[in-house]
Amino acid sequence: MVAADSSRVTSRCSFCTKPESEVERLVEGPGVQICAGCVELCAEVVAENRASEAARVAEGVPKPREIRAFLDEYIVGQDQAKRALSVAVYNHYKRIQLLSGGGHDGVELAKSNILLLGPTGSGKTLLAQTLARILNVPFAVADATALTQAGYVGEDVDTILLQLVRAAQFDIERAQTGIVYIDEIDKCARRSDGATGSRDVSGEGVQQSLLKILEGTVATISLKEHGANARSGRGYQDRDTVRIDTSHILFILGGAFVGVERIVQARVGRREMGFGGNIAAWIDADKSDLLADITPEDLVSFGMIPEFIGRLPVITSVRNLDRDALLQILTQPKNALVKQYRQLLQVDGVDLQFEPGALEAVADQAIMRGTGARSLRAILESVLVAPMYEVPSLPDVAAIIVTQDAILDHASPLLLLRNGSEVPLDSALSLQSPPAGG
Ligand code: ADP
Repeated sequence: MVAADSSRVTSRCSFCTKPESEVERLVEGPGVQICAGCVELCAEVVAENRASEAARVAEGVPKPREIRAFLDEYIVGQDQAKRALSVAVYNHYKRIQLLSGGGHDGVELAKSNILLLGPTGSGKTLLAQTLARILNVPFAVADATALTQAGYVGEDVDTILLQLVRAAQFDIERAQTGIVYIDEIDKCARRSDGATGSRDVSGEGVQQSLLKILEGTVATISLKEHGANARSGRGYQDRDTVRIDTSHILFILGGAFVGVERIVQARVGRREMGFGGNIAAWIDADKSDLLADITPEDLVSFGMIPEFIGRLPVITSVRNLDRDALLQILTQPKNALVKQYRQLLQVDGVDLQFEPGALEAVADQAIMRGTGARSLRAILESVLVAPMYEVPSLPDVAAIIVTQDAILDHASPLLLLRNGSEVPLDSALSLQSPPAGG
C-alpha cells in the first residue's frame, strides 16, 4: 500500500472522488478519506441491509401448523401454549414483512411479545428455544432475578441484548431478528409490604427498564464494560459500543407466577357466585386451568405494572407435567434423554435397557422433587454414572439394564453379558479385578 502523499494539493473523497472544496466535510482515515455525503450513503446501505435481513427471515417463516408440528417433535403436551406460540411467532414475522414491504395500509401493527406462565420445568424455555431453532434465528436466555434497574449494581437489561449479539456471533443484523427468553419475570412483581405499608420498588424498576426494549428502541450497548471477551467478535475489536434495534426482536417472558391462581380464583369466584354458579367447581379447579383463564388485570393485581403487561399482548400458559407426560418426555421427543444415553452407549457397542417399572420409577421420583421434567436428567445420570464409568473397560457387556430397584433403592444396575447371563454391576466388577492386596 502506498502511504498518503503529504505533498498532495487537493484532498479528495476516496469514494466519490469529489475534492474537499465541494463536500461538507472530509474525514481522514489511514490512507483514505471519506466525505460526509458518502458516510450518509453508507449508513443508508447498512440500514437497508438490516431491514432486508429481518425481511428475509420473515419471508421464510413457516405457517402456524408447520411451527406446531416442529414443536411437537421436541416438546410433549402443552397444546394450548404450542398453538398460541405458533400463531404469535407467525404474526410477529408477518408484521416485519409488512413493515419492510410498506404494505400495512396505515394500520399500525403492534409488536406481539409473549408472556408464558406456568410451573418450573414444564417446557417454557424449551418452547422458546425450539422456536428460535425452527426459524434459524439467534436465541438468548436471561434470568430476570439477575437484572437490576439501570444505575444499580448488577446486570442491567443491556446485558440481555449483548447475549443475543454474542449468540449471533456479533452479526448485529442477525441479532436484530432473534428471540430472547427472560425467565422468572414474576420475581419482578412489585410487592406491598403489609406490615410497613412500604413498597418494594426494585422489581418495579426492572419492569420499567425493560419497557423500552420490549417495545422497540435503538439501544447502545457497551462492549467495554462487559469485558474483553465481548469484543473478540469479528469487526468489533476497536469498537466500544454497538447499536442494536430491538423493534424486530421477539421477547418471550416466562414465570411460574406462584399464587396468581388465587387472584384468578377470587375473580372467577365472584363472577360465578354472582350468577349463582357452581362454587364447588371453581374451588376444585386445577391450577393449570385457572392459569388458562388469566387476564391482564389479574397480572396487575399480582404486581406487574400495567404498562409492562400492555407490552405483552400474547398471554399463554403451560401445565404441570403429570406422570404420563414425564414418561413420554423420557423416551419420545427427538432429543429424549433415553435416546441420548442410548446413543452414547452405542459408541461402545452397549445397549441400554429398562426393566418394566424402571422408567415409571424415574417419573415418580421426578414428581417427588417437584421441578417438573428438570430433574429427570439428574435422576438418570445418578443411576447411569457408575455403569458408564465401568462398562467401556469391561469386555463382553451387551447391555446395561436399569432396574426399578436401581432407581428407588440405589441397587446396582444389571449388566447383560454376551453369553446371555445377567449380573449386577457390582459382582461383574469383583469378578474382574482381584481384591486389592490379594
Ligand atoms: P421451564 O422453562 O418451564 O422451567 P424448561 O423448558 O427449562 O422448563 O425444562 C427443563 C428441561 O425439562 C428441558 O430442557 C427438557 O429437557 C425437559 N422438559 C420440560 N418440559 C418438557 C416438555 N413439555 N417436553 C419435553 N421436554 C420437557
